[in-house]
Amino acid sequence: MTTPQPGKLVVVSGPSGVGKSTVVAEVLARFSSRLRLSVSATTRKPRPGEQDGVEYHFLTSAEFEARRADQDFLECVEVFGQGHWYGTLWSEVGPSLEAGIWVLLEIDVDGAKEVLGKVSGAVTIFIRPRSQEELERRLRSRGTESEEAIQRRLSVAMRELSLADQYETQVVNDTLAEAVDEICQILQNRGLSND
Ligand code: 5GP
Repeated sequence: MTTPQPGKLVVVSGPSGVGKSTVVAEVLARFSSRLRLSVSATTRKPRPGEQDGVEYHFLTSAEFEARRADQDFLECVEVFGQGHWYGTLWSEVGPSLEAGIWVLLEIDVDGAKEVLGKVSGAVTIFIRPRSQEELERRLRSRGTESEEAIQRRLSVAMRELSLADQYETQVVNDTLAEAVDEICQILQNRGLSND
């Protein structure tokens, strides 16, 4: 039996409201068992409908701190503007990469920087809106947030956009299908097959 080629990490970031999760879900569906999503750990509380171990591993601050002290994280940061800790556990990525499966991390710009300092050969993709106006329109269309909350999200988004240059590729999410096609093409060019 031959040992499989190790998998690669795929780091995807982008501002809140850009439609990242929808794009990522479609990309994952295209590659099925060859690409999996890393389930992050967080200290934030679950939102309605979120389940522990599915959307996130929900940890208390003390649990998170203990896992950090044990060096269980590939990266972990207090996500800018959220007031909560988020991190990628080595246990979510190591076994898959060894088995030849690629692992996608949907993480913020600071976490991505930490990953790039530790792992070589990662594929890095930043998803951006067509324009700042479009992002603002999308954030407002949720219709559930106060003006103050929208302004806060916008200022976090501006900071993230200013750090987009640290990614190999920037993909504009104007049309969902086009953004998904573009990302799948990037992954195939880097050696991921979908057979
Ligand atoms: P939310 O709380 O809305 O699910 O996520 C808030 C932000 O945390 C998003 O920008 C998301 O990309 C980021 N995030 C989620 N998981 C991780 C992680 O494991 N590490 C880092 N650095 N950021 C994360």
